[in-house]
Amino acid sequence: MAKTAGLTRRELMKGAAGAVALTALRGTAQAAGPAPGWDTIVVGAGVFGAWTAWHLKRLGQRVLLLDASGPANARASSGGESRMTRTIYGADDVYTRMAWDSLEDWRWLSSRSGLPILHPTGVLMFFGKREPFVDQTIEAHTRLKMPLEVLDRGALARRYPQIAWDGVEVGLFEPALGVLMARRSVQTLVSEYRAAGGEYRLEEVRAPGDVDALEGVTTRDGETLTAQRYVFALGPWLPKFFPALLGNRIFPTRQEVLFFAPEAGDDRFEAPHLPGWADFNDGDIYYGMPDLESRGFKIAHDAHGAAFDPDNGDRRLSAEGTADIRAYLKKRFPALAGRPLVESRVCQYENSSNGDLLIDRHPRWPNAFLVGAGSGHGFKHGPAVGRYAADLVTARLATPEPRFSLATKGERQHREVH
Ligand SMILES: Cc1cc2nc3c(=O)[nH]c(=O)nc-3n(C[C@H](O)[C@H](O)[C@H](O)COP(=O)(O)OP(=O)(O)OC[C@H]3O[C@@H](n4cnc5c(N)ncnc54)[C@H](O)[C@@H]3O)c2cc1C
Repeated sequence: MAKTAGLTRRELMKGAAGAVALTALRGTAQAAGPAPGWDTIVVGAGVFGAWTAWHLKRLGQRVLLLDASGPANARASSGGESRMTRTIYGADDVYTRMAWDSLEDWRWLSSRSGLPILHPTGVLMFFGKREPFVDQTIEAHTRLKMPLEVLDRGALARRYPQIAWDGVEVGLFEPALGVLMARRSVQTLVSEYRAAGGEYRLEEVRAPGDVDALEGVTTRDGETLTAQRYVFALGPWLPKFFPALLGNRIFPTRQEVLFFAPEAGDDRFEAPHLPGWADFNDGDIYYGMPDLESRGFKIAHDAHGAAFDPDNGDRRLSAEGTADIRAYLKKRFPALAGRPLVESRVCQYENSSNGDLLIDRHPRWPNAFLVGAGSGHGFKHGPAVGRYAADLVTARLATPEPRFSLATKGERQHREVH
């Protein structure tokens, strides 16, 4: 293991001053050992695991958060630069409410960070025709008293002349929403959690295999860590970790993200001139973010890519993906079509069969919980997911949401949540 100034990377990450004494049992000593050191061990410090650990800590629990490669690391689904937050979800009230309910926590986290976490850019979604999703969204926002502007093509063209509006009938604009700085937010949250006394360790946990009862989690070094309860928030690694249970229920797919540099001095692609946006494009969605913090105009095709291995998948951009995006830019953002590509990322969605999240108890181990299946839209819900998972773990949840249950997760992909 790499040493830094006499300390290993793991020692450096162990606690605020590396001084936290961990109650850890090894091998066979476990059965006769002392009482578990923690109320809950959360494995996985992506956006879901970090918010779950945070909310458990706030409920007064002794929590240990573990991650194999660090919070929002380069291969994690939460490891990207930015993620959109929106409440436009058609008739899927459950996600409209979760996104809205998460805003306060995102704003709080933003206030704790020296740099912005939530950029209040506003979010614009536009549609070729006034499809049912549009009317369902308007109905939900009216009923829930959430701000939403409906813009016809003329209004869109006047407000955003840098976009070519051919074939677009209507747009929905959310002034209160915006773009989250993804990696920064998760890393800030883990710092806040540690400052509040939560424990974090850089540690890979081995898959427990087909055991009858879960009595601990074992690290790569063979150390067994025990707690009353365990949360597995492993994002795209969930199907590898639980192959029999989730191998056919969570589908990681390859997703390419590109950043283009607008011409020097051209601020039309920065907020507030451009909000976060998505073109529903007859169901073949493209989306992007304004040029934030001078990283470039971000754009991606939301269609699910090929099956992807989060450990070893090739993270180089494909020629076809770049050509696809350039063709779209030519049509919709013509001033950017020939601009240089300045950054790119290959990430993965971890899709459930229909796009619903998974937050449920493990079917065989009553002390274990599964949290994941963000399905390309999960990030914004992080605070609400963490609150829900913490309530589930501590038996405070009054009415479980059936859509988050394992039982509703099919083995065939038919995406319904957008
Ligand atoms: C390109 C892209 C664009 C997206 N855009 C949006 C968007 O605009 N808006 C939005 O709301 N959502 C968006 N999403 C979805 C969102 O980013 C994900 O749903 C979310 O980040 C998933 O978080 P997670 O915590 O479940 O997983 P992860 O962030 O992947 O975290 C899982 C963690 O588990 C750790 N781990 C794995 N195995 C082990 C082990 N054995 N032991 C210990 N630790 C382990 C990993 O190191 C990792 O840190 C997007 C996703 C992608 C890829």
